[in-house]
Amino acid sequence: MRLSHFHLRTEKETPADAEIVSHKLMLKAGMIRKLAAGLYTWSPLGLRVLRKVENVVREEMNRAGAIEMAMPSIQPKELWEETGRWAKFGPQLLKIRDRKEQEYCFTPTAEEAVTDFFRQEVASYKQLPLNFYQITTKFRDEIRPRFGVMRAREFVMKDAYSFHIDDDSLHAEYRKMYDAYSRIFTRLGLEFRAVAADTGAIGGSASHEFHVLANSGEDALAFSEQSDYAANVELAEAVAPGPRPAATEPLRDVETPTQKTCEDVAALLGIPLQRTVKSVAVIGADADGQPQFVLALVRGDHAVNEIKLAKLPGLADYRLATEAELQDYLGSESGFLGPLRAKKPIRVVADRTVAAMADFVVGANRPGFHIAGVNWGRDLPEPEVADIRNVVEGDASPDGHGTLRLARGIEVGHVFALGRKYSEAMQCTVLDASGKAVHPAMGCYGIGVSRIVAAAIEQNHDDAGILWPPAMAPWQVAICVINPKNDPAVAAAAESLHAELNAAGIDTVLDDRGLRPGAMFADIELIGIPHRVVVSGRGLEAGTFEYRARTAQEAEQLDRETLLARLRG
Ligand code: ATP
Ligand code: MG
Repeated sequence: MRLSHFHLRTEKETPADAEIVSHKLMLKAGMIRKLAAGLYTWSPLGLRVLRKVENVVREEMNRAGAIEMAMPSIQPKELWEETGRWAKFGPQLLKIRDRKEQEYCFTPTAEEAVTDFFRQEVASYKQLPLNFYQITTKFRDEIRPRFGVMRAREFVMKDAYSFHIDDDSLHAEYRKMYDAYSRIFTRLGLEFRAVAADTGAIGGSASHEFHVLANSGEDALAFSEQSDYAANVELAEAVAPGPRPAATEPLRDVETPTQKTCEDVAALLGIPLQRTVKSVAVIGADADGQPQFVLALVRGDHAVNEIKLAKLPGLADYRLATEAELQDYLGSESGFLGPLRAKKPIRVVADRTVAAMADFVVGANRPGFHIAGVNWGRDLPEPEVADIRNVVEGDASPDGHGTLRLARGIEVGHVFALGRKYSEAMQCTVLDASGKAVHPAMGCYGIGVSRIVAAAIEQNHDDAGILWPPAMAPWQVAICVINPKNDPAVAAAAESLHAELNAAGIDTVLDDRGLRPGAMFADIELIGIPHRVVVSGRGLEAGTFEYRARTAQEAEQLDRETLLARLRG
């Protein structure tokens, strides 16, 4: 490819309306252009990268035995009514009408369409298992499209759907897809983690999200560096610490006139924050459904995990207690709350860490006072103990291997064992070995193809621009020609190198635009080409080409043979 015959349009200024680095760099490099909120045109340059991602996904799906197909973007309302999702999908589902006033939606995902295809095409268990996939445009009317193609409304997704005669076959395919995803993200050169997702709502089936680790990620993840344990922070278990030490201090009131936070109290008393306990007052329901006052206790440096708390009996719909309720049950304003000396009976739930503490400090339920030297069993009854906090960096990994690290993640893939939800709702059956009609079990497997392009940039960039992992680079090599119009020998040497590299299967672009070297190099760095070769008159005289890897600090002068050997890897 010659850049003089391509459309490359880079920007010097960093676009003001882009918040994260991938969005900025994609705009600056001219990979995408906004058409409307959440709708982007892929420029020729952007499309080259998108296609590279698609091809890796396609190759690995094929290798894993999935079969490519394509389903319509526009799908009839009747189909979506069969599963109840016409109503349930909510405002993300873009609904449209044709000239006959028939209603349709723009596909956000395709369980209905593929199940409809399957029920017309496949009759016998002998044809199973089957895994169909497509790489197509999806539309979701996201409430807050942002970060460019990271959270767009129209985006490219690979979606696959598998069908099975029994659960064993489904779980074997699930594992296969999990492994295929791991290969895909590894080949793409991404640092990623497979994270167990909450399976509560789908009843014991398996679900994993694949996340690319990046600071701009929307999800908080906890993972062990010594094992493959990884979970959303919302779900990661905080394991119980070792046994509780013996009590050594007497119980005593301490004056804390203006100290309302654990930090301030610890500073005033000159003790570590880890010796204080925070009391969070909420209202749940007792066994009879009556309001119940609950004090949730976490260590001063920890935070209550609302999702874990809501999983405890009576707390599914809990809310924070009001100031009036604090006065009523504890006789104190917030800032001085604690589990001792309540005015009325209350339920106390202690986090596992708090239950293992001795000689700790809590609020005295009296404005201006805390109580120090508090000990379970001696000063107050043993509490109800539960895991109700967020894990923090350095906690023991729940799988017993190593300690946890926290990171943010961008969800780029999702594998899901669906079970029979769709096949049952859509009366989709096959005949089993005994001739009985049974509903096949299904799995679904999504990859955010266009999101991967942005996620890769979040992980791979520097001040000069993008640093593509080789598998995603628009070209592997850029040949920059200095002054081609005035020096036919230079132009010819560059042409011949270009032809030879492409013939050797190394995707190479010739920058024959005749730009000044500085502007040309800035473009090539910005768009992230992994290898740069400069062809100049001076180099030709010396019999060398200037070579520089995108990630290298210095350029090297190499003769032609050495250069070719280097680029052939
Ligand atoms: P998210 O939580 O990010 O909204 P999701 O759980 O809705 O994702 P899925 O329904 O599992 O996503 O879709 C499969 C994949 O499609 C996701 O893993 C993600 O990579 C991608 N994806 C989903 N929504 C978008 C979007 N608005 N823009 C770009 N990619 C998306
Ligand atoms: Mg979503």
